[in-house]
This record gives sequence, structure tokens and C-alpha cells, in this order.
Amino acid sequence: MLTDMKSILADAKKKSYGVAAPNAWNEDSIRAAIRTAEREKAPIIIALYPVMADIFEFGKIAVELAKNASVPVAVHLDHGQELEQVVKAIRAGFTSVMVDRSTLPFDKNVEAVKEIVTFAHAVGVTVEAELGHVGQGCDYTETKDQGLTDPKEAIQFVEMTGVDCLAVAVGTSHGVYKGKPELQFDLLSRLNHAVDVPLVLHGCSGTGDGNLKKAIGYGITKLNLYTDLDMAGYTLFQESIKAKEISKITEACNLMFKGYSDKLAHYIQWFGASGRA
Ligand SMILES: [Zn+2]
Repeated sequence: MLTDMKSILADAKKKSYGVAAPNAWNEDSIRAAIRTAEREKAPIIIALYPVMADIFEFGKIAVELAKNASVPVAVHLDHGQELEQVVKAIRAGFTSVMVDRSTLPFDKNVEAVKEIVTFAHAVGVTVEAELGHVGQGCDYTETKDQGLTDPKEAIQFVEMTGVDCLAVAVGTSHGVYKGKPELQFDLLSRLNHAVDVPLVLHGCSGTGDGNLKKAIGYGITKLNLYTDLDMAGYTLFQESIKAKEISKITEACNLMFKGYSDKLAHYIQWFGASGRA
């Protein structure tokens, strides 16, 4: 069933498990993610990222598929940058939006997020924002200590914006890591005590199962995934090509989404979300 993200994360926070938020970019990936969640009897957050997908076109499809799902599904705008994207997403029926103004100074970030919280909440849509900045894995060795979330600022930010959940920068990174991920668990623990809202971790791919489990123990409830799912699908495809096991485009597509789904199922189980729906 189509569900607001706030309720999904409230349950996860209360029971200390993590909810996977996989990126999906077309109808097949949306169906693969929802089917996987149904098999695992787990809630799921379908994250549509404007750079990867037409959020209006595929958002409407995701919303329809979510309505018919047997588990709670939130349809979420990932890294919404422009006000227009947020409006489009809400118009398409999304139940959650991320307003990413994390590269702006604190006051400007607050101002932009607050504006969107006001109208999103008026129609029951959950809002996620980012404080500090989660960068790109290709710059990781140079930037891992930059832009981490400050707990004092986090308290102010949540109070001033009224945001429903907070993406924090604690040493993860988007994409493939250059070097080894080093998570700042002390900082995460302080953030978890500082604010009441559920915490979100971006850049979970390549972070390591142990680190992710530990992060859930320190208050992370939403875990964003793309690169690992993409790589799992592509690897399965490449291996099958080498072994000459496939010769048709339909077989290739099915295999890629099998890799995506199997990896997603692994994470759903690992995050303790199976059987929660
Ligand atoms: Zn992200």
C-alpha cells in the first residue's frame, strides 16, 4: 500500500531496524524493488532521482504500483534540488520528498527547507533534508572529514525547519569509494541523541555490511542504495555473457534485474526489515 515515509520510519526507529531506499529509474526497476519487498514482507522506500529518471512520468507509475503492493511503499523524491521538482513530485502523488540544499550555507538551507516543509506537510507529504554534505566516493580520500554534520546545528536545523527526517554526513559517500570507508560512529551517536527525528544514511553502497548494521544500532533508519544494486545486476549479466548462457535481450534484462533484486533482498534481510510489514 502507498504509505507516507514518516510512518514507515517511525516504526523502524521504534523497533531499531533499517528500511532500504533503492533508486529506481524505470518501470522494471520499480517493479523489481516492490516485488523484492513483497517477497521479504518488508516496507520499502522507492527513491526516484531526477538525474536518473523523469520523476513525473515514472513517479505516477511508482505511485500506482505502490497502491497495489501488499507491503507499505513510500514513493520518494531523492535529492530534489529545485522547487519545481518538488511540486512535480507532489503532483505525481509522491508521499515523500528530499530537499537537498546541503551545499548552501546553514541559513539558506533552513530557509529553503522550511518553505517546502510548509506546503508538503499541508498535503501529508514527508520531508527529508540534509545537513552537512555527503560527497562523492571518487573524492573520498580527500574529502572524508569535510562537511560532517554538526550536532548543535542539527538540533537548530530540525527545530527551525520542522523536517521529518534528517540525512547526516558521518563519513559515507555516494558511488564507489576511493579508499576505505571510515564511519564516524561517535558523531553518529551524538547526532542520534541530539535530535528526535529518524536519521538517514546516503551512500550505503560499498560501506560494508558491518558498518551498516552498526549505523542502524546508532539510529539510522533509512539506508539509500544504488551502486551495489547496479553492480550486482551488471556483474550477473557480464558473467552470463561470458558463459554464453544468454542470447536474447529479454534474458539479459531479466538477469540484470535478478542481480538488482537479489542484492536488495540481502540488504533488506541484513537491515532487519524482513517480516516487518
Ligand atoms: Zn544521496
